[in-house]
Amino acid sequence: MKSRLLFAPSKARPSRHAWSPQGLVLLCALWCAGPGNWPLWQRLASLPDLDGPRLALVGSAMGLGIAGMLAALLAPLAWPRLVKPLLSLVLLCTAGAAHFIGSYGVVLDPTMMVNVLQTDAREVRDLLGAPMALSFAGLALLPMLWLWRRPLRRPGMLRGLGRNAALVLGGLALAAGLVYATFADFSSLMRNHSTLRYMISPVNGWYSLARATLGPGAKQRKLPPAPVGRDAVLAARPVGAPPPLLVLVVGETARADHFELNGYGRPTNPGLSALGVASFTDVTSCGTSTAASLPCMFSLLGREGFQALKAPQENLLDVLQHAGLAVLWVDNQSGCKELCDRVHQAHAETPAPGAPPLPPGLCRDGGACFDMAMLHGLDERLAQLPEAARARGVVMVLHQMGSHGPAYSLRSPPDMKPFQPECTSTALQRCDRQALVNAYDNSIAYTDRLLTALAGWLQQRAGAWAPGLLYVSDHGESLGENNLYLHGLPYAVAPRAQKHVPWIAWWPQATEAATGNDLGCLRRQRQQPLSHDHLSHSVLGWLQVQTAAYRAELDVFGPCRHPQAARPD
Ligand SMILES: [Zn+2]
Repeated sequence: MKSRLLFAPSKARPSRHAWSPQGLVLLCALWCAGPGNWPLWQRLASLPDLDGPRLALVGSAMGLGIAGMLAALLAPLAWPRLVKPLLSLVLLCTAGAAHFIGSYGVVLDPTMMVNVLQTDAREVRDLLGAPMALSFAGLALLPMLWLWRRPLRRPGMLRGLGRNAALVLGGLALAAGLVYATFADFSSLMRNHSTLRYMISPVNGWYSLARATLGPGAKQRKLPPAPVGRDAVLAARPVGAPPPLLVLVVGETARADHFELNGYGRPTNPGLSALGVASFTDVTSCGTSTAASLPCMFSLLGREGFQALKAPQENLLDVLQHAGLAVLWVDNQSGCKELCDRVHQAHAETPAPGAPPLPPGLCRDGGACFDMAMLHGLDERLAQLPEAARARGVVMVLHQMGSHGPAYSLRSPPDMKPFQPECTSTALQRCDRQALVNAYDNSIAYTDRLLTALAGWLQQRAGAWAPGLLYVSDHGESLGENNLYLHGLPYAVAPRAQKHVPWIAWWPQATEAATGNDLGCLRRQRQQPLSHDHLSHSVLGWLQVQTAAYRAELDVFGPCRHPQAARPD
């Protein structure tokens, strides 16, 4: 009730203290450009390009220019009935953008907006907290309180039109004039630091939202996918060899340099280290976010080809299915980004029919589950795949929650946290750096447990199957280096930490005899540089799927595969 009263439009008679809609637009534009863009000003001040009076001059010019541009953009809607709701929305957008950019060092470009659009309630819940509330209170709610209590002047239609037009022209002239006056500094800044433009709030969000939903390709993305690898067939298996059972674990936000297997100085991989896996040390992701990486990883085109793609295409999972294999996607995250639309799907929180209920503690209310929930009832899930396809072989994809931030501490159960103390806040900047790394490393150690348990499950199925385990993360993460947090920076400027991912392969000895894939040989190749471009072709190679779409030079397992004596038909 109280807030309704506070925000109720003032019934006071318009007096000479009343504001014109244009005046409010101008003031709001100045507020957003100034305090509302604090992360931009902080970043500008930290750049080596400018300092002293020059920094003050260029910074002020940019601030006024942004205010002018924003005022020009909003002016056509500066009408008495519209102006307060409009400006409230602008203030909320600005506060939200400033919070995320300032707290986590991300920028709001179109790729990040695709991630935002694909996020789910659980991910949003992880982000909420006191710092976010403070940001909204200071940058949006207080000014809104002031705004809604201003009496408004109500000029006639013609006079309003004239004033709005004047504000558009004035705002544009101001922005253009200031850019012109500081052109040398301004253009070199934008050239050298291309992400700055995506820090200008709130227009960064609006622009990126428009690009993500209406931009080039948005319409084509809705078309049915073009077929890929319809010619796929499985090579004949050697006499008596069991069908392959490959589990591909898609990791989340795991950075390679926090894996003990890759030389990290903390025991984050006790289980996998004892198993004798092949862990590749120099693997580069296709993107810096889930939305960018996932479709690219599963495409057969590689990063360059995928980015040039104008319309959707079928992916690795479709090709595996064309070859006659049974394919199942088990998700413990915000979905498969349309990759698994045409294959069997399951979610970690929903046990397979016939499987016992999930043990308590694995899933919280609202469906957020620890990754180990994906292992529950795997036999039942396996048994429910179509029998004919199953007899040829099975590929299961487990899509992890992994090390998804910023709530790293929620990614491992309380009794499985070897690194203490742990940062439990989502305000990562305020956490002690070591506590933040502890929380993150606990999530990696939990992934180690998951993969080790999965290897154990697969080992027990050797004989009936030729099992294999492959783990690759979608992208890395910044943990405060250079004041950057989370991930999703534009690829060209993202630090290595956001692109350097783990790639781990393992299978029991029996699989080598059945499939020819030699793990010992692979371990000796672990330092060769790889990228997500290799993933699809390596999976096709491991399973011996033959198709014109397969590229042997991208199959990391190829050089370590012994020729097999095929079963005579
Ligand atoms: Zn991701």
